[in-house]
Amino acid sequence: MAVFNIPAICDSCGLIFPSGIGAGLQSKVELEGNRSRCPRCNKMASIPNQIVRILQDGIEVFKSDDFTIDVLRALNVAVEDLRSGNKPTLEIARQLDQTSPSVANEFRQWASLGINFVIGMAAVATAVFTWMQTPGQNRTVDEVAVDALESVYQQSQPVISQRLRLPGVMPYNHDEYPQKANRKTRRAQEAKSRRGDR
Ligand SMILES: [Zn+2]
Repeated sequence: MAVFNIPAICDSCGLIFPSGIGAGLQSKVELEGNRSRCPRCNKMASIPNQIVRILQDGIEVFKSDDFTIDVLRALNVAVEDLRSGNKPTLEIARQLDQTSPSVANEFRQWASLGINFVIGMAAVATAVFTWMQTPGQNRTVDEVAVDALESVYQQSQPVISQRLRLPGVMPYNHDEYPQKANRKTRRAQEAKSRRGDR
């Protein structure tokens, strides 16, 4: 099983860094109330307790047949729009909806964790997509996804005076994160619509 260092996100400067808590990518992790100190600004950082699940959900979407090169391109356009700061985040998400509602749905959740998390997920998306296109790999897709996420720790990341300052996006609140049942229902609906298409 691919083990990774769960990200912590600084409440003050937006840095994503390794929290020191390791987890298997497919494991269920309870992180209630975990905090860590930011190595960049020395203020307190959170380890959102749903962050592993948000990551797992994203990787599942990236692995699906619906995640095509066009969807990857649209996601990268969305990330560039977010970086430029010229468009409200919700408008960017709506634009992404036109190419892939399921990715747009994930994007909204990533955005609640800040721009650096969105950038990280786009890097994971690219790595997983590339893996899926290349037969005969000797590494698992989870290992590739974990490496892509952890490489974000090594990159220089923009300082965000308030990590959740993405216009139109509500700050992350784990109580509002959709429950497992919703995800199952959503999957069932997606599977149903796929069957209908073919
Ligand atoms: Zn910081």
